[in-house]
Amino acid sequence: MQKGQMVYEGKAKRVYECERDDAYIVEFKDDATAFNGQKKGSITKKGVYNNAISTVFFDWLKQEGIVTHYIDTLSEREMLVKRVRIIPVEVVTRNVAAGTLASRLGLIEGEKLKQTVVEFYLKNDELGDPLINHSHAVALELATREELDHLERTALMINDILYERLHTKGVLLVDFKLEFGVTAEGEIVLADEISPDTCRFWDEQTNEKLDKDRFRRDLGRVEEAYQEILHRIQNK
Ligand code: 5GP
Repeated sequence: MQKGQMVYEGKAKRVYECERDDAYIVEFKDDATAFNGQKKGSITKKGVYNNAISTVFFDWLKQEGIVTHYIDTLSEREMLVKRVRIIPVEVVTRNVAAGTLASRLGLIEGEKLKQTVVEFYLKNDELGDPLINHSHAVALELATREELDHLERTALMINDILYERLHTKGVLLVDFKLEFGVTAEGEIVLADEISPDTCRFWDEQTNEKLDKDRFRRDLGRVEEAYQEILHRIQNK
C-alpha cells in the first residue's frame, strides 16, 4: 500500500494517509528522545524492532479480545492502523516502583507495588506531560468519567495479559504507557505502540534493563536490549 500525505510526525513515528480512508500508515523511526526532548539521539534499527515488537503485542491482545487500532504489518518499519482521534491522556500502569513514581513518592526502584497503580498524564509536550487525576481530565473535557473508567479497566486487563505472557519469557513488566483513540464509529480502541520505548522491561533473573532506560541513562547496549525483547517474545 502506498503512503499518501504525512498527517503527523512525532518523536518516534510518522503517520501517513493511504488509499483507505479508514486507515493510516504508521512509520517507525530510529530517532530517540528522552526527558521531554532534552536528550536526543538515534538507536540503530529501533523502528524495525518497535514495529515488530508492537505487532506481537497487538496480536497477543487481539487473541484475548482487546480491541486495538492494529490492522496489519506492511513492511519492516510500517504498520497499517485504524484512523482514530487520539485521546490526549497517557495511561501509565505500574507493577513495580521505578521512574517518576519512585522519585515522586520516595520509593526504592524495584520495590513491588502491593497493588497495580494506574495513572493519567496529560499528553502535552510543552507542559512535560503532567500527572492529572480524573477530575482534571473531566474538567479539561479530555474524556468523560465513564471513558476514564473504561481506560483504567482496559489498562488493567492489558497489564494482566502482558504481565503473564512476558513472565513466561523471563521478562518482568515493570510499567508501561498506553494511548487510546476514538474511531469514526465512536469506539475507543488501544492505539499508539507497545514497545521498549513505552514500557519498562527487566530480565527476571538479573533485573537487567531491556528497554529505553538504557538510552535515557546511558547504560550502553541499547540496540541489543530491543533485539533481546523481540527475540524473547517471538520465541514460542
Ligand atoms: P515514568 O513516568 O516513570 O517516566 O514512565 C512510566 C512508564 O511509561 C515507562 O515505561 C515509560 O517508558 C512510559 N512513558 C511515560 N511517559 C511516556 C512518554 O511520554 N513517552 C514514552 N515513549 N513513554 C512514556
